[in-house]
Amino acid sequence: MFTPLTQASTLLPSAPVSAATATGVQTFVALAYIVAALLFIRALAGLSKHETAQQGNNAGIIGMTIALVATITLALTSDPARGVVVTAFLIAVAMLIGAMIGIWKARNVEMTGMPELIALLHSFVGIAAVLVGFNSYLAPDAQAEMLGGFHLGEVYLGVFIGAVTFTGSIVAYLKLSAKIKGAPLMLPGRHWLNLAALVVVLILMVVFIREGGVTPLATTMLIIMTVIALAFGVHLVAAIGGGDMPVVVSMLNSYSGWAAAAAGFMLNNDLLIITGALVGSSGAFLSYIMSKAMNRSFVSVILGGFGSDGAVTAGDEERGTHQETDAAEVTQMLKDAKRVMITPGYGMAVAQAQYPVADLTRKLRDQGVEVEFGIHPVAGRLPGHMNVLLAEAKVPYDIVKELDEINDDFGDVDVVLVIGANDTVNPAAEEPGSPIAGMPVLKVWNAHDVIVFKRSMATGYAGVQNPLFFKENTKMLFGDAKASVENIIAAL
Ligand code: NDP
Repeated sequence: MFTPLTQASTLLPSAPVSAATATGVQTFVALAYIVAALLFIRALAGLSKHETAQQGNNAGIIGMTIALVATITLALTSDPARGVVVTAFLIAVAMLIGAMIGIWKARNVEMTGMPELIALLHSFVGIAAVLVGFNSYLAPDAQAEMLGGFHLGEVYLGVFIGAVTFTGSIVAYLKLSAKIKGAPLMLPGRHWLNLAALVVVLILMVVFIREGGVTPLATTMLIIMTVIALAFGVHLVAAIGGGDMPVVVSMLNSYSGWAAAAAGFMLNNDLLIITGALVGSSGAFLSYIMSKAMNRSFVSVILGGFGSDGAVTAGDEERGTHQETDAAEVTQMLKDAKRVMITPGYGMAVAQAQYPVADLTRKLRDQGVEVEFGIHPVAGRLPGHMNVLLAEAKVPYDIVKELDEINDDFGDVDVVLVIGANDTVNPAAEEPGSPIAGMPVLKVWNAHDVIVFKRSMATGYAGVQNPLFFKENTKMLFGDAKASVENIIAAL
């Protein structure tokens, strides 16, 4: 299989690659790309279920390894003028630097830091598409020149999507890592501004393509469009309120896929087109699921600002007095309970409380208590965040239920343990004018007793005070969630 590569590697820098070798390499690469593409599809299918997620992950790793080997083989043999040694050296240096940063980051990132890391990685895909676009515009190869207007269209759209993804993802990174706080940016007539920007981008595109190649006017059009797209990306994401960020994260995931597909067109790389399209379409589908979960319209998600007119009440005032409890009292309530529901949120991830929570679940079930988990689709800071943590702590899948499956059951539940969740159990979502109005929430307050594990009366990510904390059947168990659950286990 590697014969073409072995032959190619003996070439001196200026020696041409023989026609037979080139054909062999092309056949190998085409086959490898088909296998890799199939494995990527298998990976997505596997990742859609808990039980097959590990297999899906493995399929993705094997697919990516095959894709890398094929692409490097292609790169080594496709530019005989530069020579194999120089190309191999450049690839090795780039991979070494990338791998060092990647391994360092993967070892150090906390689970709670994953969302912002992912947002940052999306921004890399965006800037890569912009750079590939400018490169392929300024140094078109023979085939691209033949394609003419079509190639220029690819370049223009690739740079546009890449630039929007780049700045949009950076703003998302800053918001998710709490480096920017505060209300969403609500510029007057912001939808008109967005529309005007898109119209200007379209007009510039016509001029750019009509120029038919690299001219001062075309270059100016491309640069002006890039600046508009960079500002557009900032504006789209800056207009999003805290509670709506999950949809933005999945939307940027989708944009990064389309940016990669655009880069694939410009580089004439079929696998990049397929992979980008897979990421783009699965991200779009996830955005659709998330916007349904948030009760937002998909179209207003794409337009940015989610159709909110900004006329919201902050809702962060205190709503009465709250009652406090301690581990001993909660333990007694759990001993007396027949049915317990646990609704985890971002605080469980912060406290790394999933292991004691899994332990508590085992102990209660051993004592004959029915225990289930109610998972809100946007709990945590990442789609599927809670499911990943609970799977890691070996909580059985069959007791982990989605919001739709259990939201009508709370009336029959004796005790709900709200572990580090806030916005996802906030009844303010049922009040018109609240910043989270319309978002479906877990109706934990319908249970007989509710225990809220958190450290203070502070608000959640959306910055909205939670009337649940002041209800008669709610008690606050203050402290770090991990320590609180461990205290209860000790008392059981
Ligand atoms: P929230 O962010 O609403 O609340 C988390 C709560 O955990 C806080 O009130 C905090 O209170 C508490 N907490 C933090 N650390 C600890 C600790 N060590 N021990 C105990 N409690 C702790 O979480 P939810 O999961 O309910 O909601 C998620 C929010 O994040 C939603 O608004 C969602 O829209 C948003 N979001 C979700 C994304 C996703 O894809 N899932 C992406 C981006 C945003 P205190 O400080 O008092 O302890």
